[in-house]
Amino acid sequence: MSYSPYFNPDMETLSRLEIEALQLKRLKDTLEHCFNGSAFYKKRLMEAGATPDKINSLDDLRRIPFTTKQDLRDTYPFGIASVPLSKCTRLHSSSGTTGNPTVILHTARDLEQWANAVARCLWMVGCRPEDVFQNTSGYGMFTGGLGFQYGAEKLGMLTVPAAAGNTLRQLKFFTDFGTTVVHAIPSYAARLYEVMCERGIDPRRDTKLKILAIGAEPHSEDTRKRIEDMLGVKAYNSFGMSEMCGPGVAFECKEQNGMHIWEDYYIVEIVDPDTLEPVPDGETGELVLTTINREAMPLLRYRTRDLTRIIPGSCPCGREHKRLDRMKGRSDDMIILKGVNIFPIQIETILMQFKELASDYLITIETRENNDAMTIDVELSDIFIDDMSALQRLEKEITRQLHDEILITPKVRFVPKGSLPKSEGKAVRVKDLRKTF
Ligand code: AMP
Ligand code: ZN
Repeated sequence: MSYSPYFNPDMETLSRLEIEALQLKRLKDTLEHCFNGSAFYKKRLMEAGATPDKINSLDDLRRIPFTTKQDLRDTYPFGIASVPLSKCTRLHSSSGTTGNPTVILHTARDLEQWANAVARCLWMVGCRPEDVFQNTSGYGMFTGGLGFQYGAEKLGMLTVPAAAGNTLRQLKFFTDFGTTVVHAIPSYAARLYEVMCERGIDPRRDTKLKILAIGAEPHSEDTRKRIEDMLGVKAYNSFGMSEMCGPGVAFECKEQNGMHIWEDYYIVEIVDPDTLEPVPDGETGELVLTTINREAMPLLRYRTRDLTRIIPGSCPCGREHKRLDRMKGRSDDMIILKGVNIFPIQIETILMQFKELASDYLITIETRENNDAMTIDVELSDIFIDDMSALQRLEKEITRQLHDEILITPKVRFVPKGSLPKSEGKAVRVKDLRKTF
């Protein structure tokens, strides 16, 4: 059967001019809606002199104050909503490790639009109604479960809502149901392969897997390539966050060079996290998003704390929706060690270049003799040869490359494959024992 390359041709083929015209219209509608429906935004916008009548161009967006995670916490649970609760049909909440969690409300229309965005992403990378989609995310408050579920159903695939964990059962579903598309976080994709090897399952021979949506946590290009080689699939980076619904915000196209962010849903800004001034396309900064297609709880200029950049230039796929680069991490993931700012992804990028290493690692930071010290435990892969001097040479080379990248010298320790703790949700990569909560 021949299909269109687009799920929403009218939106996916808009030119830059058309995108911007639509954004301005939707921004103005959203502002009116927030101003009239949300006491929180009415006050904010009045105080800033940014009432809807004052916003007449996309540049005027900068007059609107930022919304922060703290605002969501301060108004917990429903204080930013722009519609009465009786109009809402679902909420999602993020697990707050400190303070109140954050809550996002959705109307039936919001859920419909969210499902549409996810379906658009999956269609873009070749998913079609003939496919069998298996979701390995937890169903519940984590948006990767229900978000992908409704998106995949909207597209029309046969869905297997396997949910998180129980890896043997996941593998049985792959083989029994002929799963072709999987959604998994990167750490779990690697785990699936490990268990396949233990059970003598060859993904290329014994399954029909071909497409993997991986996201929810930062991962390097080498990690992606490894996962693709292991499972014999194409793996596409999927970006989202609960505050913006969940998955479906930005997704790689088949070019695998940056994630198209759906600009009929979001206005993107990249700002310097210190000055909060916009940075030019191509430069890294904090991602700030304004929802322009949401009813229950639109967020204006939301500071995501995620660090990324806009990839300049146009994409060969023809879609003119901007592309976000791979996330560098969140500003709050940054480790400050001996005055140096380090992102875990910098360490992962080095580690994953060594075929002798498996995918799992754990960074521990502690105080030793009044000094900050970093230890990296990393699992060895199967291909390692049991030879002490080769092991020492490997350790030396990894340490040297890490030092070049992060400017400090960590202690690298090799541990047997499978020995680091595995989590069912997002992988825990950093243990900072210096913190005293
Ligand atoms: P949550 O709201 O719990 O779904 O977490 C959202 C956060 O997960 C984002 O703000 C990012 O920090 C992170 N995240 C989601 N998708 C990706 C991705 N593809 N790459 C890197 N980080 C991601
Ligand atoms: Zn593209």
